[in-house]
Amino acid sequence: MSDTFKGHCHCGAVEWQVELPSDSQSHILCHCDACKLQSGGEYTLNQLAPKDAFKLTKGNLKTYTYKGDSGNSVDCFFCENCSSSPYHHQHVLGDKIVVRTGLLEGSKSWGQPVLEIFGKDKLSWQPQTAKDIAPGPPGS
Ligand SMILES: [Zn+2]
Ligand SMILES: [Zn+2]
Repeated sequence: MSDTFKGHCHCGAVEWQVELPSDSQSHILCHCDACKLQSGGEYTLNQLAPKDAFKLTKGNLKTYTYKGDSGNSVDCFFCENCSSSPYHHQHVLGDKIVVRTGLLEGSKSWGQPVLEIFGKDKLSWQPQTAKDIAPGPPGS
């Protein structure tokens, strides 16, 4: 079973929707330094989804590309007006994208996060909130 979740950027210029199966309706916390720079917070909330599960329903997204921890390129998609970022695409993941689940309507009621990644970059005072934590990318 899957559900469709709507999202919008802070200024309202961009809207989107993502279809997530029930076993993907959970947050993966990412502590990496790129997420800190992008969000201004101590981590981001994410989930993996097939590229075609994401649909832009209003406005346009801009892109920039940076080198991820693995040395592979990552495309970050964002609203050119307010910089909210609905997803990014790590080239190493092929046809999967990383959706920012914290921007999806209804995701506040999701339970305990399933996983934390890039624990090596976690701020020292931040408690572990997920069941599992990996020092680097998932599976590390
Ligand atoms: Zn915006
Ligand atoms: Zn990250």
